[in-house]
Amino acid sequence: MVVQSLYPPVSIPPVDLWTFLFERKDRPFPDDKILYQDAETQRHYTYASLKDASLEFGKGLRATYDWNKGDVLALFTPNSIDTPVLMWGTLWAGGVISPANPAYTADELAFQLKTSGAKVLATQASVLSTAKEAAKKVGIPEDHIILVGDERDPTGRHKHFSSVLNISRATRYRKAKVAHEDVAFLVFSSGTTGVPKGVMLSHRNIVANILQQVTGEGGKLSWNGGADGKGDRLLAFLPFYHIYGLTCLLTQTLYKGYHLVVMEKFDIERWCAHVEKYRITFSYIVPPVVLLLGKHPAVEKYDLSSLRLMNSGAAPLTRELVEAVYSRIKVGVKQGYGLSETSPTTHTQPWEEWRESIGSVGRLMPSMEAKYMTMPEDGSEPREVSAPEVGELYLRGPNIFLGYHNNPAATKECLSDDGWFRTGDVGYQDAKGNFYITDRVKELIKYKGFQVPPAELEGILVDNEAIDDVAVIGVQSDSHGSEVPMACAVRSAKSKSSGVSAEGEAAKIAKWLEGKVAPHKRLRGGLRWVESIPKNPSGKILRRKLKEQFKGAALKA
Ligand code: AMP
Repeated sequence: MVVQSLYPPVSIPPVDLWTFLFERKDRPFPDDKILYQDAETQRHYTYASLKDASLEFGKGLRATYDWNKGDVLALFTPNSIDTPVLMWGTLWAGGVISPANPAYTADELAFQLKTSGAKVLATQASVLSTAKEAAKKVGIPEDHIILVGDERDPTGRHKHFSSVLNISRATRYRKAKVAHEDVAFLVFSSGTTGVPKGVMLSHRNIVANILQQVTGEGGKLSWNGGADGKGDRLLAFLPFYHIYGLTCLLTQTLYKGYHLVVMEKFDIERWCAHVEKYRITFSYIVPPVVLLLGKHPAVEKYDLSSLRLMNSGAAPLTRELVEAVYSRIKVGVKQGYGLSETSPTTHTQPWEEWRESIGSVGRLMPSMEAKYMTMPEDGSEPREVSAPEVGELYLRGPNIFLGYHNNPAATKECLSDDGWFRTGDVGYQDAKGNFYITDRVKELIKYKGFQVPPAELEGILVDNEAIDDVAVIGVQSDSHGSEVPMACAVRSAKSKSSGVSAEGEAAKIAKWLEGKVAPHKRLRGGLRWVESIPKNPSGKILRRKLKEQFKGAALKA
């Protein structure tokens, strides 16, 4: 049975993001409204200064780099109030943004640069050496690396983005002709299987998701801003390279006129201090932050009474955590759910009702349809089940991505011709339309909201000569308050005869892997030696079997 959203559909204007955000007639806030502000230095952009700088950057990009429609600018930087300038300017110039995790190693970044076909790379001094190494691997010339942030390049080889702005003053370019179905962002996700892929999100996808979010309760009220939403001040630490930060923080702020106070990275003490100093009213958070708010001593030292509510997403959140935070600071935590492939939000708990459905990820967004399907392991066709039966969640709506960049095979696996997207998440919907997630059938592991694609780790581990075969699975760890990756590996004869103990070899491999992957992908669940990796006749790893075998194994990890 196909389930429709309980809310009336949204009307989506057929325009690109620049037109939607910067040329709208009904903007509910003035030109001098502060939108993005650095939490530490207080430097800020107002709506007008952001628009000017973005426009100049777009022109500068054209003047400097022979920029054409569809060209890709990769962002490899920690959060900064300047990155939106590059984003909006690039979209104005008809380009596509591909944001990457600044914790990536050079190989990880090179993979994204190559897959996305990036022409220009914007980065910060703190990660410049990694950016340069990656750019070299894929043939991006040094003068196509731009710096953002306060530091300049002492060698002068890399332009600072402000000098790209200056170039544009002399030029007369017009806005590129961009259709609302054109690609705006290429964010990276491993989806239901395999290594990370470029998720093609169109201008329309993001416009749709903003409207779905801000009119979530049938347009009666803005679900995260009260009746007018104008006064809200949001504290932003979620990474801008992930779709949660990209849409819910950067884009939504620009549509609603929130005051976004930006942290370069998360720190519980600084977060509390900023809430007190800026009288923050709302924050998008993730479960590990909810855990800290319930336990960390810093929380007692600050006045957090300005907070009206918080929203958690990106990973599972338990009822116990929500209650622990409420009883400690008297602030509610509602949940939302979504994926990179859905721009992201598909479900959210209504603002006023978070208390009534704790544990649920909320109701289906306007203009969306859902269905629940069986998950046959024998290769037979899945069939629909009726709510409230448990099934794999499939979704359809205007925020569903266009497909994976240059990867029709992977697209076909999860996106049907008639628009249904297979999420890889399992759950059910109750009689009031609240959706609950109970399991995940896709390979993906999420360490504290960060994606860890098992196929990527397996590809690296199998190159180690101590390993003949390997599978990586996610196991729940109480001490991390999250799933953690664990490797199950078959030890090679060479390693067995080397005289190194099994534990010693496992520790050596974990250390070896550390140099090759971003910190969130480390084997926090350890490496276990096994006799063989269970597989089906076509060679597919039977991860469920391994998960059963090692259930609870990493609880102490
Ligand atoms: P990403 O594409 O990185 O946003 O990852 C999407 C995945 O994160 C989903 O398919 C879920 O497995 C997981 N996820 C997102 N939000 C939630 C939530 N509120 N509860 C449980 N899992 C979530």
